Amino acid sequence: MSTTTAEPSFRQSVDLMFNRAVALMDLPPGLEEKIRVCNATYTVRFGVRLRGQIQTFTGYRSVHSEHMEPVKGGIRYSLGVNQDEVEALAALMTYKCALVETPFGGSKGGLCIDPRQYDEHELELITRRFAYELAKRDLIHPSQNVPAPDMGTGEREMAWIADQYARMNTTDINSRACVTGKPLNAGGIAGRVEATGRGVEYALQEFFRHPEDVAAAKLSGGLEGKRIVVQGLGNVGYHAAKFLSEDDGCLITGIIERDGALVHEKGLDVEAVHRWISSHGGVSGFADGKYIKDGGKVLEMECDILIPAALEGVINMSNAAEVKAPLIVEAANGPITAGADEILREKGTVIIPDMYANAGGVTVSYFEWVKNLSHIRFGRMQRRSEEAAHVLLIQELERLSADKELGWELSKGFKEKYMKGAGELELVRSGLDDTMRTAYQSMREVWHGRDDVHDLRVAAYLVAIGRVAASYRAKGL
Ligand code: NAD
Repeated sequence: MSTTTAEPSFRQSVDLMFNRAVALMDLPPGLEEKIRVCNATYTVRFGVRLRGQIQTFTGYRSVHSEHMEPVKGGIRYSLGVNQDEVEALAALMTYKCALVETPFGGSKGGLCIDPRQYDEHELELITRRFAYELAKRDLIHPSQNVPAPDMGTGEREMAWIADQYARMNTTDINSRACVTGKPLNAGGIAGRVEATGRGVEYALQEFFRHPEDVAAAKLSGGLEGKRIVVQGLGNVGYHAAKFLSEDDGCLITGIIERDGALVHEKGLDVEAVHRWISSHGGVSGFADGKYIKDGGKVLEMECDILIPAALEGVINMSNAAEVKAPLIVEAANGPITAGADEILREKGTVIIPDMYANAGGVTVSYFEWVKNLSHIRFGRMQRRSEEAAHVLLIQELERLSADKELGWELSKGFKEKYMKGAGELELVRSGLDDTMRTAYQSMREVWHGRDDVHDLRVAAYLVAIGRVAASYRAKGL
């Protein structure tokens, strides 16, 4: 039976999950409290003259923990933004950064706005003004606080923020490192746009490398042929669905969007659905799939893997019991409330938690920040020298295979594949893959290694809180 009676708020949910983990640790109570609480939340209300009148906007930037600086976390544009939400998201950032070993504290920001109601020029004015308000207080700063994209924002907004900061800090040689998720031509890094979805794919690949874990989810075999339902075909959901279907042979049997859902037992064409949404604003009317108006119901559909990649609280106490997927990957932040988490655990559902599953974004943001501070593209120095060494080896192999007596032959395509030195995109993907594997293994060790740990979420919190506590101790706290 569930012991949680009322649905907690997002921040309460994060705190409840934190408390469940910290109860298994032996931290001094003062330190426990220090880690849990949010250090500061700044609320700003600012006016922008639009369409002949001044409109007032409310924005937030919350700093959860400064055990490492800069602090890091996205900026969200949505009407649902409020203080509780940004504080919950900032806390998750602290734990996420610790889990994947990116050297940042946790932060998050948001602007209470529906970006679809404004044209590009208006959004630029609003974003620049918001950035000005935050930068003025060092809440955007290469060594203090480095935002990134989140729901409703992307490369375009990040480029405006970077430019606004640079205008205000004309002599700061590191100004581009004040924000990540920028376009490539404005100091971004290859592979950042796809990073969170790619990270979801790498997380699942790593999960399926461990037959014991796959069996815990009452599944078997590899990713090939697994039926997946995705909620939200935005940045994270689209890339996750695309890579899992194209590279891993999964079937995307359901896609849930704002206006309803599409289902197809043989698998939906993710690219085609994505194009349809871009031109029609929703999934309804798409021909190659069955349209279901009540999209939420599709969260309860039979499938192997459910990937909520839209917003928080979608699996809650009202529908958790009906969710049939044996494996849920939290690509969004906080899609499962604490109450629902309890119901699902009792049912034996395996949950790959948000702080791990969607950490690909912050991981590649970390690479971008390092690139900006080092002022050089990854791979620029070594790529051609690597290729030259490969050419030498190929020439030697070709000389040997020309010797008929040895009877050697290079396999088809080997030369082309081996010759190519790694460029920035290959290096970024390699670094991301390594991060996702290592972080999974650190959670897994705790999950299987301790008798009092029964799920990946608690394992993730234990690893993360342990690292944050070690940082605070090292500072003498
Ligand atoms: P996005 O704005 O690009 O996409 C969100 C998608 O969800 C959109 O397609 C939207 O139409 C859809 N959506 C919104 N409300 C919905 C509803 N009620 N039902 C179904 N679909 C709905 O946002 P994103 O950047 O992909 O972020 C999605 C989630 O992933 C958020 O929780 C965010 O915090 C998290 N996240 C994002 C990143 C990143 O790098 N962008 C990194 C880590 C975590």
